[in-house]
Amino acid sequence: MPTVSPPRIQILPERCRGCTLCVKGCPFAAIHMEGKQAVIDYERCTLCGACVSICERFGAIVDQGGASLAAPSGPRGEVWVFCEPEPEHGGLMPVSRELLGLAPSLAATLGVEPAAVLLGHGLADCARECIAYGARKVYLADAPALARYDDRCWSQVLAGLVREHRPEILLGGATAIGRALLPRVAVEIHTGLTADCTELSVDAATGLLQQTRPAFGGNILATITCEHYRPQMATVRPAVLPRPQPDPGRQGVVMPVAVAVESLPPALEWLRFVPRGPAGVDLREAEIIVTAGYGVGGPEGVKLVAALATALGGVLGASRAVVDAGWLPYAHQVGQTGVTVQPKLYVACGLSGAIQHVVGMQNSTTIVALNRDPQAPIFRAADYAVVGDLFELIPALLRELRAH
Ligand SMILES: Cc1cc2nc3c(=O)[nH]c(=O)nc-3n(C[C@H](O)[C@H](O)[C@H](O)COP(=O)(O)OP(=O)(O)OC[C@H]3O[C@@H](n4cnc5c(N)ncnc54)[C@H](O)[C@@H]3O)c2cc1C
Repeated sequence: MPTVSPPRIQILPERCRGCTLCVKGCPFAAIHMEGKQAVIDYERCTLCGACVSICERFGAIVDQGGASLAAPSGPRGEVWVFCEPEPEHGGLMPVSRELLGLAPSLAATLGVEPAAVLLGHGLADCARECIAYGARKVYLADAPALARYDDRCWSQVLAGLVREHRPEILLGGATAIGRALLPRVAVEIHTGLTADCTELSVDAATGLLQQTRPAFGGNILATITCEHYRPQMATVRPAVLPRPQPDPGRQGVVMPVAVAVESLPPALEWLRFVPRGPAGVDLREAEIIVTAGYGVGGPEGVKLVAALATALGGVLGASRAVVDAGWLPYAHQVGQTGVTVQPKLYVACGLSGAIQHVVGMQNSTTIVALNRDPQAPIFRAADYAVVGDLFELIPALLRELRAH
């Protein structure tokens, strides 16, 4: 008579409390409830061990094979990037490109493929762009009902896709839409999300996404992992990752996603789109930024720094101290509570270099700092340190620039 070996992962009925955490956390939807008991569907179970880890507290799920909990042995899902089209100019948002540039290396560490997810209408060009920037596959939910962003409809479609395809990682930009949509999806599919990351990597031994972000007012960088639930989700600040170059020759597949329009009652009424306009400040896209710190002393000093910005063909930035003083509007603020920038040239005029400012500009290609205090911390981040009074230095620089 043939012998049947017992399944390696088992639920101990006497210990199961019926809490359903394993049902929500199983990356492969292989556990369901029968009354107050969790039951494993062995047709779907990949022995990844996630449920054993989730149930550590109660010890109701055991792995007889002793598989490492942190290194799932089953197949892993893909690394997904939720990509956003740029509303004003078309094409992808810069942060989506940045994430697509990173996704292939994260996916390679996990031995899976990088994929993009696009929601909207008329996005064929964006789908091609996703592939050029690094996606091997694009899940394209293209429907008139998704033409405008709507929290409820979009989260329903994205959560449905996650349930169906079970990605290992889902990333998105920390944009207005990314910050609204991804937490909503995380709640719907019951997983964790680290918001506003500045660095991401995958630990090759455990497969865990290392999600780094500033914490405690920017005084420390915290690295957060999501051990028990999938997908591992994070939003990433624009302009903290390198800007990748597209490769139009790269091959990939576009997978059209059927959208059940009737199940998407809109939650919002669309009135109109108001573009930022020529007077708007766009620090994120600027190649040259000249920033005024509190050392400028007041609005007259700001005007001097603004003249330098204009002479260099750049955009005017501000430290928080300058914004708090009311010398410039918030749109100019660089730093942890302002925008993160990555220009080719960053000129810091009369600012001390507090960590909350530096985290927002430290990835600039070349940093020039003007400060009269030779010990100013900004000099530690600077490529060129100019020690002196900005009221003498800037007029001298302007004279030189005008002469050339
Ligand atoms: C939670 C939190 C979030 C924050 N977020 C941000 C943020 O997003 N962005 C931000 O910028 N800050 C932020 N801050 C504030 C930050 O800690 C600093 O207070 C702020 O950056 C200081 O601005 P500053 O360098 O312009 O001014 P100061 O620190 O006052 O520095 C002025 C500098 O100007 C120099 N100086 C003075 N006169 C002259 C002169 N004539 N010529 C040359 N140099 C001169 C001085 O030597 C000094 O180094 C945050 C703080 C907290 C707690």
